[in-house]
Amino acid sequence: MKTILLPFVLLFFVFQSYAQLQSPKDFLGYEPGAQFSRHADVVNYFEHVAEHSPLVEYHTYGKTNERRPLTYAVISSEENIKNLEQIRKRHLANARNEAEADIAIVWLSYNVHGNEASSTEASMKTLYALITEKQDYLENTVVIIDPTVNPDGRDRYANWYNQVKAEPYNTSQAAIEHNEPWPGGRPNHYLFDLNRDWAWATQIETRERLKIYNKWLPHVHVDFHEQGMNEPYYFAPAAEPFHEIITPFQREFQTEIGKNHARYFDEEGWLYFTKERFDLLYPSYGDTYPTYLGAIGMTYEQAGHVGLGINTDEGYELTLTDRVEHHHTTGLSTVEVAHKNAERLNKEFNSFFDNSQLENKSYVLKGNSDKIAALRNLLDRHEIEYGQASSNRISGYVYEQGKSGSFTAGENSLVVNTNQLKGKMVDVLFEPSTKLVDSLTYDITAWSLPYAYGLDAVASKRQVSAENFADRPEIKNTPQASGAGYVSKWNSMQDAQFLAALLKEDIKVRFSEVPFENEGKKFDRGSLVITKSDNRSLEDFDEKVTRIANEQQRELLAAKSSFAGSGPDFGSPEIKVINTPEIAVLRGNGTSSLNYGEIWYFFEQELQYPITSISTDYFSGVDLSQFDVLVMPEGNYSKLLDESGFHNLKSWIRSGGKVIAIGRAVSEFAGKNSLNLKENKTEKDTVSPNLIPYAQRERESAKNLITGSIVKTKIDKTHPMAFGYDDTYFSLKLNSRSFSLLNEGYNVGYLEEPEVIAGFAGSDAIKNLENSLIFGEERLGKGSIIYLVDNPLFRGFWQNGKLFFVNSLFFVNNNKFRL
Ligand SMILES: [Zn+2]
Repeated sequence: MKTILLPFVLLFFVFQSYAQLQSPKDFLGYEPGAQFSRHADVVNYFEHVAEHSPLVEYHTYGKTNERRPLTYAVISSEENIKNLEQIRKRHLANARNEAEADIAIVWLSYNVHGNEASSTEASMKTLYALITEKQDYLENTVVIIDPTVNPDGRDRYANWYNQVKAEPYNTSQAAIEHNEPWPGGRPNHYLFDLNRDWAWATQIETRERLKIYNKWLPHVHVDFHEQGMNEPYYFAPAAEPFHEIITPFQREFQTEIGKNHARYFDEEGWLYFTKERFDLLYPSYGDTYPTYLGAIGMTYEQAGHVGLGINTDEGYELTLTDRVEHHHTTGLSTVEVAHKNAERLNKEFNSFFDNSQLENKSYVLKGNSDKIAALRNLLDRHEIEYGQASSNRISGYVYEQGKSGSFTAGENSLVVNTNQLKGKMVDVLFEPSTKLVDSLTYDITAWSLPYAYGLDAVASKRQVSAENFADRPEIKNTPQASGAGYVSKWNSMQDAQFLAALLKEDIKVRFSEVPFENEGKKFDRGSLVITKSDNRSLEDFDEKVTRIANEQQRELLAAKSSFAGSGPDFGSPEIKVINTPEIAVLRGNGTSSLNYGEIWYFFEQELQYPITSISTDYFSGVDLSQFDVLVMPEGNYSKLLDESGFHNLKSWIRSGGKVIAIGRAVSEFAGKNSLNLKENKTEKDTVSPNLIPYAQRERESAKNLITGSIVKTKIDKTHPMAFGYDDTYFSLKLNSRSFSLLNEGYNVGYLEEPEVIAGFAGSDAIKNLENSLIFGEERLGKGSIIYLVDNPLFRGFWQNGKLFFVNSLFFVNNNKFRL
């Protein structure tokens, strides 16, 4: 009896469980678009669907800084889901030209910007539609849905909105529910823009996503966004400039997808625009990065950034329901086009990976082994292959000279060839400068990795042979019972982390202002000297120092004597004690949330050194005497630094405080009484009266523009801010702001005749950069103001700039006494 009944019972349960599959409305209790859902609710719904549908797998791929799950669903026919691993491998084999494939892979990424919040709502609706009414698309298509790329930002927005919204919702633009407070929900926990981070992979969300993305390398990738509330909808094809690596098929297929969307939008009478504004150049976006890996990468932008309903300037009410409907429509339409063109997508995907036409066959880099290690880390995250050069002479474009020449590779030289799966991405990331067909772009126009990492490099038209990169031998320092102390080099971020770790464990450290020699070994400026004498109170001094050095993999010289072979001995005034600084960082209204985030992330995750963040709201009431350093992110401080505010700040500086001003914050000090910093203004040499036609004004203003270009900068390497650097540095210039050289004070990084190595810089803007400051220090009483005109922490990716910031914290005018 039992044995006969069992199959029926099972069947009943199977039937029951599928029958329980609920629509988003039934599950959530409201139609998508009627409310903003919290991330946890969205995850619950996806789990529910995966549990009740054989067409869906749902996985977690990581956790955010605030411990929210990062997730993705894989959706296809029941048959395909059973053979998913086989489909995936076949797809990658097709890219490698080892097999043919016929299934289309579409990846839909929702809500990378947390406060563009309609898209996550749409993801639930689209998931449900795919497994119910649109099942036929899934026969030859695998759809991957990441419902929330940025859960921390999304919840920051959704929770805030749910807290302040009126009931029923208020459609006035003045209502609080349409006006987010600083920093807004757009960025992630560390206030990074995740749609600028794909290539640099500084953030946990990106790092975890890339692992899954690399497993799939989809044919089509869509990044769902929102734009201003008065701009109805944007979809592909994208705007110029397109990177030259983008294939004719990729361009053409964007149009094909766009036309399919247009069909649906026209039917409903919904407005949209294409081919404007959103270009395909900077490689760190959710459209370009996938494009450079063979996908049709696209950005869709819905009018939004507002609550459940608002009266737009054009006089109609824009509702969340409409926003969801539009994103839902383009999502499904994308899958439809892929489904109808699966064969073609697979064929073209295969040809994309033929890299034989790339002009540069190899990029070879040499230099500081810590910097090579940092670059290897990045390449590993992208699963880009590389090797170690056997020592030889290579001719090609030499980055440092900015022209053709020859280059001798050393033992530790890194070779990255373009005849690999990701050869086109290699080309985009390493090429000395990107070809620009149009100067008006949405983002920076230069990012070449050798300059960003401070490595000498050559781009060669011949392939350079390489062997496996040998891992660095493990460093094991042993404690020295007798002797004067330890010495360690100073020229990389890894050295900076070592210093931070020593200071956190209350070890006194000195740095040398001049080169010296000990035990026959030469040490350059900035080298760390850790003496027994300074740390007499520590019983386990030797064990502690060597343990920290081993943890940080830093090589110590155990100095038997403090007597120098040449240069100063350890007791010399040239070898200065580093005061462990108490550091305050400003945040909040008036400051750039992105730059504050870069600083916050840098201290917490990279340097690993504590800071006190202070909001501009109550800054004027804070007793600054408890701090040694105040970091002022990019921002507008006109309110904070009114007459009395500036007076207070100056008296704190005079008594020994140090301000580090970044980017726009530098302007706050220009032209101020008792300071000699001055801003250079571009001369307006236009005809007067201005006869430039209206339609040309935008182009004309480009003459004054700099959009993220690389400039060759002179460095005074004898100044403590530049310790660890040579006399040339390639700076990433983000705008055309220019300051004159300091008459008094120190010009540490500066331009004489500006040499733009890569990226767009307008003719007037270049002229205005003549004799201008990049990094400098001005003294005021006992204290200093440090000007970082170019932000060295920009998006956390300009690796070679970071030591200027660290030096400013620990070495520049570091008063021995606490105020
Ligand atoms: Zn966006």
